[in-house]
Amino acid sequence: MNGSGTLDAWVGRTIGVARLPTRDDIDAYQLRCLNETIAYARSQSPFYRLRTGWPEPCELVDLRDLARLPLTTADDLVRGDPSLIALPMRDAVRLVTIPTSGTLGRQKRLFFTEADIEATVAYFEHGMATIVRPGSSVAVAFPAQRPDSVGDLLMRGLTRLGAFPVALPVAGSLDRMVDALRELRPAAIAGMPVTLGAAARRMEADGGPPLRIETALVSADSVSPSFKAALAVVWGAEAFEHWGMTETGYGGALACEAHDGLHVRETDLYLEVVDGSSGRALPAGQEGEIVVTTLRRRGLPLIRYRTGDRGCVIDDRCRCGSVLRRLRLGGRIGEPIVAGGGGRLPAAIIDDAIFAVDGVIDFSVELRTGRGARLAVGVMAAAPRTIVDVRAALLRHPIVGPWLQAAGIDLAVERVSGPPFSLCRKRRVTVVCGED
Ligand SMILES: [Zn+2]
Repeated sequence: MNGSGTLDAWVGRTIGVARLPTRDDIDAYQLRCLNETIAYARSQSPFYRLRTGWPEPCELVDLRDLARLPLTTADDLVRGDPSLIALPMRDAVRLVTIPTSGTLGRQKRLFFTEADIEATVAYFEHGMATIVRPGSSVAVAFPAQRPDSVGDLLMRGLTRLGAFPVALPVAGSLDRMVDALRELRPAAIAGMPVTLGAAARRMEADGGPPLRIETALVSADSVSPSFKAALAVVWGAEAFEHWGMTETGYGGALACEAHDGLHVRETDLYLEVVDGSSGRALPAGQEGEIVVTTLRRRGLPLIRYRTGDRGCVIDDRCRCGSVLRRLRLGGRIGEPIVAGGGGRLPAAIIDDAIFAVDGVIDFSVELRTGRGARLAVGVMAAAPRTIVDVRAALLRHPIVGPWLQAAGIDLAVERVSGPPFSLCRKRRVTVVCGED
């Protein structure tokens, strides 16, 4: 592993400066790319061509001018009429549809060209080079069977940097995945927090010879402190967080050795933070909704796209020495749950409180609101004792305990056998609205 210096060097080469880039170099590159993207999108994409509200002339003089342009939403991707696509479909190498949590059958549609995919593979190669050594084996716990899927692109990036990636059987049972890990004994592992957390705790519960994994890349969901602690205790692994989504071309921002925010993929993304309700752009350091603009995307350029994730941008130079801007994550919009008189409680707090209990391998949480309100927790654990511990930990928790009490919510913790949940998923509290 090389640390963030090599990532900056790669950014320099990519943006056309033959040395380590300065903040001014990156800002000038981004301004140039933003103007090119706006001109390209307005001439090629039916959605951007027909939409109103563009300032005229639409040429940015300063990066902050971007805030004058209209925002794009997930609904625009779902509707697809007029289409955001900027090239004929024959140029697509990958078309991705993502189900949305709303009405059944509604999907976001994204579209990538060969060059868009190549930009992601290059980012994965150089991003992973900061945390993985060439020559080391890396277990990939993302689905990687389909060409150009996130797991496949990550494996291609790892291969280019000289590492040896192996896809874990994430579609099968947890036991099968753990067996594969024991056999492989990788130096690093990459996956979603739920997948890696369950694998680590399963190994711990099984006993046997310890497995040492140097680094873990955790992506696609918020990463709680108790989760990081479990990876450190069981594997001795240092967890590096990554933020990204299909809309960002999978790669988005990656933690460095300072673990103080995630360095943004500034070769391909310009990040803003806006006030969730007014849409007004917020200054650095203030938390709000993360908005992305793609800088080189040809298939389906996104201009000021509301991601639904919360966070803030940090402008100060990082302790690791990198000049790349950082993102500090703050959860997902709409994630906090509401229950009776108990007020709003972010689901992440419940997740963290449960996973902090030793012996918890995996779990699901359902909140039933209204009359007979109930928080039902299903816990997968090796020992019955763990169920008692989870219940006590939730009641004792300085935030969850009073919240349950104030809202008059019953707590039911139950042991579930076998893996009742999909291994690759985000952990969320499901809210079921009961009668009042
Ligand atoms: Zn850093």
